[in-house]
Amino acid sequence: MAQYTSSRELVVAICRTLLERGYLKVTEGNVSVRVPGRDLFAITPTSYDYAKMQADDICVLDHDLHRVTGTMKASIEAGMHAAVYQQRPDTNVIIHTHQPYASALALMNKPIPALFDEQVRNLGRGVEIVHYAPSGTSFLKSRVKAKLRNGDNAYILANHGVLVLGGDTESAVHNMALLEKVALDYLLTLLAGEKAATIPLPIREIAFGKLRADEKKLASQEAEAAREVEVARTAVVTPADAAQPAAAPVAAADSAAPSGAPADQRYAISEYPDVAAVYAGLERLVSGPLRKVKPAVMKEYLDYFETKCPRSKALTTEAREYIPGGVQHNLAFNYPFPIAIEKADGAYLWDADSNRYLDFLQAGGPIVLGNNYPPLRDKIVELLGECGPVTGLFHEYELKLAELVNRLMPSIEMFRMLGSGTESVMAAIRAARAFTGKKYVIKIGGAYHGWSDQMVYGLHVPGTWRFEAKGIPMGATGRTREVYPNDLKALRRKLTEDRLLGGTAAVIVEPIGPESGTRPVPFDWNAQVRELCDEFGALLIFDEVVTGFRLGLGGAQGYFGVKPDLTVFGKCISGGYPMAGGVGGRADVMMSFASGIGGKSGEHAYVGGTLSANPLSCAAGYFALLEMEATNAPVLAGRAGDRLTRGLNDLIARYGLPYVAYNQGSIVHLETSGVMLLDLHHPLRFARGMKPRKHMMEEMGAAYMANGLITLAGSRLYTSMADTDEVVDDALERFGRVLSSVEGA
Ligand code: PMP
Repeated sequence: MAQYTSSRELVVAICRTLLERGYLKVTEGNVSVRVPGRDLFAITPTSYDYAKMQADDICVLDHDLHRVTGTMKASIEAGMHAAVYQQRPDTNVIIHTHQPYASALALMNKPIPALFDEQVRNLGRGVEIVHYAPSGTSFLKSRVKAKLRNGDNAYILANHGVLVLGGDTESAVHNMALLEKVALDYLLTLLAGEKAATIPLPIREIAFGKLRADEKKLASQEAEAAREVEVARTAVVTPADAAQPAAAPVAAADSAAPSGAPADQRYAISEYPDVAAVYAGLERLVSGPLRKVKPAVMKEYLDYFETKCPRSKALTTEAREYIPGGVQHNLAFNYPFPIAIEKADGAYLWDADSNRYLDFLQAGGPIVLGNNYPPLRDKIVELLGECGPVTGLFHEYELKLAELVNRLMPSIEMFRMLGSGTESVMAAIRAARAFTGKKYVIKIGGAYHGWSDQMVYGLHVPGTWRFEAKGIPMGATGRTREVYPNDLKALRRKLTEDRLLGGTAAVIVEPIGPESGTRPVPFDWNAQVRELCDEFGALLIFDEVVTGFRLGLGGAQGYFGVKPDLTVFGKCISGGYPMAGGVGGRADVMMSFASGIGGKSGEHAYVGGTLSANPLSCAAGYFALLEMEATNAPVLAGRAGDRLTRGLNDLIARYGLPYVAYNQGSIVHLETSGVMLLDLHHPLRFARGMKPRKHMMEEMGAAYMANGLITLAGSRLYTSMADTDEVVDDALERFGRVLSSVEGA
């Protein structure tokens, strides 16, 4: 009668699963399980075709490697397996495979650091390398044994692959998958990083060879996720159906403003972009070769900076001695060197050498009325004359602003002013956790929600977890999770997993898509996220730092007709004046912050700030919003965005370029290098494309600037009410000059 059948069958089942998932090649690696309650283990035979394996082929050995049953010769790694079972009573399954990503890391002598919370929970604080441990030797056994003391579940074996441990079958297979993912991601960062060129060619080829093979698998995973979007799109409602009347009646357009803005239009978006077409265009862009400005013309553009911007160069060079990196604004353009700005007025900026630029940075988004808008400035000067910028005590403008925000966005039942978007995101998350008693927060990969410890996670590039979390302890991001953009299935999965771990306090989204719509969402995405949040009892936080009032006075929530529980505001809440943050929403949730009158001293979620809610910022926000309402500024800025986008698309077609231009009202995207669209679903493309595409984006930004155009990172353009048809046409003429100088145009 066959003995230990179930243990032997389990080994076969694990091998089949690993084969199917591509973690075990037909003749590589070995797998074992502990025989329950006995000092025995069942292990795969040596030099064997696992695809043909049957339970009878599996060997059962004791810890001294004496054969108990089975006719075939056991794996030559059996000694290592025995050592693990003896030393680690928590381990019941062992997987050893020849995983190329980890092998490449071993050759580079790069143990994997703690990159993200799931890794730490399952694999350990890092994946260490077991040095020189040849197959089947006592070296291997003793070196592995020495490492096992750290209690981790994954190790890289210097000469041959990886060792993964698990308490049961599921956890062992899961740990194997996790290790593959972590090893791949870490390898990619190294390959894409500054030192990529120093990695020896053979090592890069090992990784790239495997990546090439895996790209199909990863692409099909992405297609799965994309199908979800397709389904979602069938339920699209038109913006007109969904837009709720959130704002008070809007005044007729100023006659000096751009033409064609209907007086009754409330929102900046006249037509929601065809998201599927945008993604198709972006996919063509990132899968094709770079189309750069001709080198000779680029040289002329760079000469502009040397000859026309000497004072900017001198100032920012000197600044490097006193300010780290010379500039303090993340959105500042630094190639070939930063430009110092001295004057701002309407649609224009002037640099320290008196060169004039058309400004499509708009300070990163807050300015919808145009730079240094005189009616707003006058109010601020008046206020400063009366009470100065700050007293530390209540001022009527706090109330006026909170009431106005509530009128414009009825979901904001209560409101609290803070210092920045970053702070406001921190506050919103704190309130969500305090109110729900749950811990996890889910964000969308690539989204920017400021630089707080918990939000520097999956920043800019989806799928990159803690890659930018230098200086941030593991614990700070331990309860943050990231989901690929537009992947509702993945969001549901994370919500389900979190439920088992204590629950999700909040899902936070940029409502037009990560990084201000760089990866746009289908129109009904927010409504579907709302439904999922309700199903799982998580709060929905809208980060309207960019969309709040730029998309319309009712914000993205008014436009999409979706009511978040909490809304985060930033720059626009003070009309671009200093201090630029706020959080508002459901009164019951917002009461978590209550201090002062009726405050729950000692129980509330702590927020504050000496300069928060100062009279200057509150008055600036109040008057800016009133002006925007009176002038219909968001809609007029949106018209300018439409005109600019139409013109850019004409230029792209005229010069036969693969570039993609689309807009969400006054937020215009002009993707030329596509660097922002790279992600870890396409690792090879990411590793190879990151550096050259980033550099091309810098070049495009410099080319625009040399032609009198200031953009956000060379790929985004914010328009304002000051962008009359004349201004936009002038801008298009300048963009035309740059695009006509692209190779092959
Ligand atoms: N969220 C979003 C969507 C943002 O765009 C930004 C800033 N660009 C922030 C949060 C952070 O705001 P702040 O820079 O005021 O901290």
